[in-house]
This record gives sequence, structure tokens and C-alpha cells, in this order.
Amino acid sequence: VSSVYAAPGEKGSVAQYRARYGHYIGGEFVAPVKGEYFEDISPVNGKPFCEVGRGTAEDIDRAVETAWKAFASWRHTSPAERSVILNRIADRIEQNLEAIAVAETWENGKPVRETLAADIPLAVDHFRYFAGVLRAQEGGISQLDENTVAYHFHEPLGVVGQIIPWNFPILMATWKLAPALAAGNCVVLKPAEQTPASILFLFDLIGDLLPAGVVNIVNGFGIEAGAPLASHKRIRKVAFTGETTTGRLIMQYASQNLIPVTLELGGKSPNIFFEDVASAQDAYYEKAKEGFAMFALNQGEVCTCPSRALIQRSIYDTFLSDGLDRVSRIRQGNPLDPETMIGAQASNDQLEKILSYIQIGKDEGAKVLAGGERVDLGGDLTDGYYVAPTVFEGQNSMRIFQEEIFGPVVSVTGFDTYDDAIATANDTLYGLGAGVWSRSADLCYRAGRAIEAGRVWTNTYHQYPAHAAFGGYKQSGIGRENHLRMLDHYQQTKNLLVSYAEGPM
Ligand code: NAD
Repeated sequence: VSSVYAAPGEKGSVAQYRARYGHYIGGEFVAPVKGEYFEDISPVNGKPFCEVGRGTAEDIDRAVETAWKAFASWRHTSPAERSVILNRIADRIEQNLEAIAVAETWENGKPVRETLAADIPLAVDHFRYFAGVLRAQEGGISQLDENTVAYHFHEPLGVVGQIIPWNFPILMATWKLAPALAAGNCVVLKPAEQTPASILFLFDLIGDLLPAGVVNIVNGFGIEAGAPLASHKRIRKVAFTGETTTGRLIMQYASQNLIPVTLELGGKSPNIFFEDVASAQDAYYEKAKEGFAMFALNQGEVCTCPSRALIQRSIYDTFLSDGLDRVSRIRQGNPLDPETMIGAQASNDQLEKILSYIQIGKDEGAKVLAGGERVDLGGDLTDGYYVAPTVFEGQNSMRIFQEEIFGPVVSVTGFDTYDDAIATANDTLYGLGAGVWSRSADLCYRAGRAIEAGRVWTNTYHQYPAHAAFGGYKQSGIGRENHLRMLDHYQQTKNLLVSYAEGPM
């Protein structure tokens, strides 16, 4: 049995935050132009633990300027040079895995067992993946006639803006940074105001591996720092992850400068359990129950949270009761305890949003089968933001089935036929993730193709390898992240059309 990690700020902790962080611009921490700071609060105990610079348009100007200066030489680095740098970043993160994991847990509230086993190792792997694929990327040649050739080159876009949310602070930063750097761009990144410090903690560790100004981080709020970044005249692309409503604004800002946008937005992912799942009480059945309980992973603060469970009526009662039994065994507790499976919601605002949706569910007549309330863990954690894993039973037309709650809440309903299942699955504005559970490969294939979502997990859920493309249909976004094709989102195509003929055209 491993022991509970000491919190940053306590004696003997493997991770210590600075008391105050400015912005990270030009390879160093600098004070915000207006000199203002805001408090970063740990959801573990509801108390502030450090101060972070409150950025404004002036800080964004400075960061964009600095990034363009760095681009003058970064653009000429070879793929091999950038690959070496990305690999070094991966190595450095891996060497400091425990410290980064504890720092991230303290700021976000997610269990350390996940930051140790998933968030940070996935970030390491992501840098390694892009270090590799960037060297395998090739341009092209079209032979137009005997003496005329069209060359196609990949070129970086220049300085790109990136805006990220608070649910996976380091992994979302990595998903954005690794491909942008691999493709030869310089970056201005704005972390979420709820979780800026773990990324700054990371840059204290890895900053020296990059030439100054290649990555710049400006902290602050959406309107004050995010909007000036997304609408800046000198950025060449904006990549955003966050809410669908904010995504619409980002597109408007970007349209003023006619720059490309990639958006990773919200979801209301269906998780479909067909009747043959329960045809035997075996290892597969255990896995399916695990799949049902996945709504609580990362406290449900995942854009692909399987927040709608659709269970075929012939197995509805059995599977639901076994699923509830599995949910009752999710251990909630101190996020710094490696035994804990579900920790704290990331912020007080998020806690209140989830509790209000739980009330909405009750008011619209959905039945609470598990949880349905805030949890007080007592002692030092009494003010932390804990919610019990919650299972509702209702109909797909209810708000709790249609709106993104972003908490450990699943809404369950039944279906009779395959066609009903697909119709209900697709009856949503969103199209990010989905789960299909069946022992029949044919059924899984058909359902997987029929569901309108960018990622359909089949007999698994919540896996995020770097080499599988990820992104949304419908109002869940535009573009893809992860996978080699991500490089296309960060590059221009230069066509050089050359005549080698000696004579007239
Ligand atoms: P959010 O949209 O409120 O904030 C995201 C980021 O945008 C933050 O950095 C914020 O400061 C900034 N921002 C807010 N308003 C802005 C504005 N007007 N201009 C510029 N920037 C602005 O989202 P959130 O609550 O932090 O994150 C949760 C959301 O993110 C959920 O909807 C979730 O589904 C989504 N998400 C999607 C993915 C995906 O890959 N599709 C991954 C993780 C999270």
C-alpha cells in the first residue's frame, strides 16, 4: 500500500510551486505589463496556493512579438534538430514524472494515480510520437511534363495561438505544443485561468530545452487574455479546446484575420450496451461493467465523458444493477492518495454547475440511482470540491441527456432495437466520442460506422494514443488532434512550379 503524497507547500513534497508566477515569455518568467496577479486555488482543499500573472492585450502583444523573433531562426531548424529537442522534452518530463504528477493533481484535483499512470506518461509519449513522425513526413513532386515539375513543400505557418481548458492542463498543452513545434511553428499559449500553474511548473523544468521565445505562455482570463490572442493580427492560426459556446467566439475572432481555426469542443457521448454483453458472466462482462463506470473517470471532466448510457431492454435490469454495483466500488478520497479513484472537481464554479444539473435532473423527473450530492471528506479536505458518482435514469429528451454537465454524472436509458440505439445515440448536437459494447464484431462495425462521432471506442473506452486521430463531428469541433495528419493543421503547402525547359514556354 503506497502512502499519501505530501501536498506542494508541505515539507517533503516532491513538487513545490513558486509563490508567484508571471508569464513565460522569451525563455523567462516576466511580470505582467499591468502588474496584476490572481490566485490559483487547489480544488483538493479549496485554498489558494500561488499567484499567477493576470495577462492583458499588452502581454499578448509582447509574447507574439517575441515569438516572431524566435521564428526567424526556429523556422530554419531541420526536422532532425526539432526531433531531438522534442525527444529531450519527453525525457525530461519522464525523469520528473512524479513531481509533475503531484503538481497537476494539486492544481486540478484529479487523482494522483491517474496523473502518474495516464496524464503525464501520455504527455511523454505525445512528444515522442511527434519527434518520430515529423521525420517521416514527405513532400511531393508532380511531373507535369518532361521538363516541368511541381514540388510540394511543407512550411510552418509562423506564430500560432493556442488556448486550452483546465481538465487536462498538461496533456492539453502537450496535444497543442508537440505538433505545432514539430511542424516548425512558434507558439503563444494561454492556459485556463483555473489551472495555469502546472504548465508553468512544467516550463520551469523543460524551458531550457527550447530556444528562447519558441514557446511563450501568457496567463489570464478568457476575455482579457484569450480574446486578444485569438483576434491578434499577427498570429497565423488559432487552436482552441474548450466549450462549444466559446468555440463560436473563437471562430468569429479568427474570421477577422481570415486565419485557420481548429476547435475541440464539448460532447454528450453515448455508451451503448447491446444484449449479448450479458450472455456470460466472464472477463468480457467485467470489462463492459468497467466501461459503464468510465463516466466517473477524471471526475467526468472529460470532453468524451460517456455521459449517456444506452442499455438494451432485454438486459436492462441485470446490467444496470451490475453496473451500479461497479460504481459503488469507485473509491473517492484525497486525490494525493494513490488508492483514490475519483478526486475533486477542478473549481468551485464547476462544482456548482454540476450540483445545479443534478437538481435539474431531479426536477425534470429523472430517478437518482446513485450519488446525487456533494461529498464532504472532512478534515483538511472539507472545503474541497467533491461530488459523488451519480447515476440518473430517464429519457434522452431530458436536459441531463442533452447538455454537457462535465461532472461524474451518467444518464441511463433503455432501447429495444439496433435502429433505436443508433437514433438515440445520434439525437444530440454533439459528435465527439461514443462507446459500442457487443461480442459481435459485425454489430460493432455497423454501429461504429453509423454513429456520428469522431471517435467510436469499441469494447473499450477512454484510450487516447498519440497515433489515433481525435476530434469532433457536428458541434464538437473542427479538425483533428493527435496522429500524423495533425501536422497538416500546422503547415502551409508551398508549391514550386518549375520549368527546366530551355526553349520558350
Ligand atoms: P472554456 O471555453 O470556458 O475555456 C477554455 C479556454 O478558453 C480557457 O483558457 C478560457 O480562458 C478561454 N476563453 C474563455 N472565453 C474566451 C474568449 N471569449 N476568448 C478567448 N478565450 C476564451 O472551457 P472550459 O470550461 O475551460 O473547458 C471545458 C470544456 O472544454 C468542455 O466543454 C469540454 O467538453 C471541452 N473540452 C474539449 C476537449 C476536446 O478535445 N474536444 C478536450 C477537453 C475539454
